[in-house]
Amino acid sequence: MVKINSDISIKNEMLKSLKESQSLEHSSSSIFSKSGKVISKSQTIDIDVKDKKLSELISGNYDVLSSIDWKTSEGTQQFLDISEKFISVTGKSLYDEMISRYEAGKISKDNLQKNLKILLDMSEFTPNDQDSDDVWTSYYDFLDLKDIVLSDNFNIEDLKNIDYNNYFNKVTRPYAEKFIKQNEEIAINARKAKLLSSYDVSKSQIAPLLPKITNIKTDDNTIIQKFNDKEYQINYSDDAINVSDGNKQYVIEFKKLLSQINDENDKNSVKKMIEGLSAPVLIDLAVEIDTIKVCNDPDSATYAQYDGKDNVITINLAKKDEKNAVFALAHEIGHSLDFSKHEDRNMVTFGFNQQFLEIARNEMTKLDGKEDYEKQYATTNPVEMFAECYTLLNMGSSADSNYVLATYFPKTVGYVKKQIEKQRNLPENERNFIGRDSSLHERLRDNPSW
Ligand SMILES: [Zn+2]
Repeated sequence: MVKINSDISIKNEMLKSLKESQSLEHSSSSIFSKSGKVISKSQTIDIDVKDKKLSELISGNYDVLSSIDWKTSEGTQQFLDISEKFISVTGKSLYDEMISRYEAGKISKDNLQKNLKILLDMSEFTPNDQDSDDVWTSYYDFLDLKDIVLSDNFNIEDLKNIDYNNYFNKVTRPYAEKFIKQNEEIAINARKAKLLSSYDVSKSQIAPLLPKITNIKTDDNTIIQKFNDKEYQINYSDDAINVSDGNKQYVIEFKKLLSQINDENDKNSVKKMIEGLSAPVLIDLAVEIDTIKVCNDPDSATYAQYDGKDNVITINLAKKDEKNAVFALAHEIGHSLDFSKHEDRNMVTFGFNQQFLEIARNEMTKLDGKEDYEKQYATTNPVEMFAECYTLLNMGSSADSNYVLATYFPKTVGYVKKQIEKQRNLPENERNFIGRDSSLHERLRDNPSW
């Protein structure tokens, strides 16, 4: 996102298109291959056996049209195939045949009207600006046709004056094919993106930059966490998490941090996520964040969000069981570290770090001409790049950018690692990267772009 409120939204778009791709795969078996051959009578019997919908339509049962899910690409493909086969077998378009049957008294007017509506809905695509006047004329004719069919007392002679078949050939078929092709491309991209999400960063060129984390349990509520060369003691209780780095004790007090969450189950869900954070991220949470809120929105693409104005993280609990929910929380803590409203605590402000921008922009050029699926979330803007590097360096995995960081951004990740270490070694009140700049707060409202 390009505002100071940042999130992980790409993942879900990918999942959504992945779902489309899966249903696409299921569809193909039930559909005819396009032969383009003229089909003889003996083959007609064969077709009847193979495709129940087509044989129903040939026998005049148009109600089966409503079983075609025409808003999906597989439904659209089925509609195109059936339309083509119908002409091959009967010598007429489905539209013409419907009107003939009505005129021969074989179907009622209500039945004709109902099924024509469905047929026209399935056929409707809007031309674009590049299309010829001829194409647009056939589209306007089609809209007239729709008006006639939708009117309470439509006249069959009016229908016959409009050339549906012309519209089908000029608009429906090419646009339906385009629609199917685009959906296939989205599905292919989603499949490739899915492969990237299981990318093993520990075997990549940036493996030496990743944290080595080991936990030793000392009693039921306490662990010693070795994070690279540093040792932390973490104590978990119902009310708080205490983290000690040997010099200082940091406390995450749930009563204060989660004061705006009313439901006990929601509180417990958030506590569980917090318990999944590594010791340095817990300390950053203790130092940086005042409040964690929750929302529950299964339709939203957002896992979690950081509001830099109020210094609040909001977690979407509808996503809490997903694998990268904890990484998404760490990612938001990374944002808070980057542009906390507490100016004297502000640790990195990477969007304004010229050296960081130069290194990252330079590595970005390696992505020129690459396919979209490779451009994972970190490439969105410098602020997301920092948050994903932070998550990778402190948790051993980013929320959704391991492949792109490991493949294209080894120098950027290395720079962020050094910079974070340098800043962490400073006393808290000296950490602010660009100093006590009175205009900082204002300037941080606009996320920098590449
Ligand atoms: Zn973000």
